[in-house]
Amino acid sequence: TPIIMWFRRDLRLSDHPALTAACKTGRPVVALFIHDQIVETLGAAPKWRLEQSLGALQASLEKIGARLILRRGNALEVLKSVIAETGAGSVYWSRLYDPDAKERDTDVKSALKEQGIDARSFAGHVMFEPWTVETKTGGFYKVYTPMWKMVRDRDVPAPLSAPTKLASLSQDVASDALSDWGLGRAMHRGGAIVAQYARVGEDAARARLDSFIETRVQGYDTNRDLPWKDGTSGLSENLSLGEISPTTCWHAGQAALHQGKAGAETFLKELVWREFAYHLVHHTPQIVSQNWKPDWDAFPWNTDETAEKVRAWKQGRTGIQFVDAAMREMYVTGKMHNRGRMIVASYLTKHLQCHWKIGQKWFEECLTDWDPASNAMGWQWSSGSGPDATPYFRVFNPVTQLDKFDKNRDYVSAWIAEGRANPAKTALQYFDAIPQSWGLAPNARYPEPIVTAEAGRKAALGAYENRGF
Ligand code: FAD
Repeated sequence: TPIIMWFRRDLRLSDHPALTAACKTGRPVVALFIHDQIVETLGAAPKWRLEQSLGALQASLEKIGARLILRRGNALEVLKSVIAETGAGSVYWSRLYDPDAKERDTDVKSALKEQGIDARSFAGHVMFEPWTVETKTGGFYKVYTPMWKMVRDRDVPAPLSAPTKLASLSQDVASDALSDWGLGRAMHRGGAIVAQYARVGEDAARARLDSFIETRVQGYDTNRDLPWKDGTSGLSENLSLGEISPTTCWHAGQAALHQGKAGAETFLKELVWREFAYHLVHHTPQIVSQNWKPDWDAFPWNTDETAEKVRAWKQGRTGIQFVDAAMREMYVTGKMHNRGRMIVASYLTKHLQCHWKIGQKWFEECLTDWDPASNAMGWQWSSGSGPDATPYFRVFNPVTQLDKFDKNRDYVSAWIAEGRANPAKTALQYFDAIPQSWGLAPNARYPEPIVTAEAGRKAALGAYENRGF
């Protein structure tokens, strides 16, 4: 009987334990992707990026003689129909750890098992299953560094190779057309601008990893902090949809480490930050929706998403150059440098005292590398409400940070057009990307700060002290 391989955030063929297990049986494999409620509620940029990735997976599957079946609806109902149509006896998938996916998958597994279907989940999205990493006293990690020390020397099995042929079904199975789903429709300019910055699919992800290891991992430990420099791997958009496995990245990083490349260990550490995010989301699922430290429930966050200061932050016109450059970078490229993410998150939650969930949601709308675990952890880390977070009283100064990490203002000039005789192409692109209704123009005056670095810091610390923290 056939096996249904239910693809979700594992849109690749290599190092894919579930797919490898399905192929090993020699039974026909039905490759399936379901446009369900979880897909429906994705933000504009992640949805657009998913469409691109599904296109790439379709092409890779065709090369090995298979077809990706696309269906829309409730996941369990769709699976039941495909089982009825194909006579499949098994459904395989790669485990996910965020609360929405876990709830869906638990329901699907028990309902299918009740029907006598062999429903099985496999590893693949993370290197270390969250329940296999324990503190000495048997709990989960709430702090990153001890977790890093615990896993750094673990044996991570070598990546599995991609199947070269998939035994497919003799009968035709009905599929929607990807274009009919219109996943990119909500994306500004239909995704035409952000597409220039995306590298889609398994082959592109692999090429990106190889070129990073070849040429940039060497200086990664210092360059990764410079937002104007192409100093990081850029792999987050690929890891987010599983176009490449973390294990593949880990092994490449380990090989670089053994060749003595400075920067390789820092790269491995960053991969473990991603693991830490999944570890936390598994053990404390509320991290995606509530203050991880409940004391913070009493903090007087501004929760009004329509406030003018929130609009100014989203539109990159706070008058604080580092913040505005980073917000515009995200709108145009679908990504934001990690230093920028920390600065804009600190400014929103501390200088403007807005709830981190406002920022979390805007990132979810705009990031092509949106990841439920890393985004939630990043926001709670920045606001002070999360595990292993920066203390609230440590308020990033977005002006001195600029002097430190963008001394020559390369980042600022790449993204801010106003007040410049010859604005950079990227800075002008921002005005092509935004809706006309925002009413912004490159030749306008650059705004005065809505809240200065000093005033914001004082206000943040005042609010913090008043709460008696
Ligand atoms: P590299 O520097 O090349 O690092 C390699 C990989 O390690 C990354 O691709 C990523 O998978 C992982 N990694 C690196 N830094 C972190 C980190 N701080 N936390 C978790 N994993 C990390 N990352 C996302 O992938 N999706 C998000 O939605 C996301 N939201 C964030 C929100 C905030 C407020 C903050 C502060 C950080 C967020 N991050 C998020 C983490 C980080 O900024 C990005 O992973 C990184 O900038 C991606 O660039 P890169 O692939 O070139 O990373």
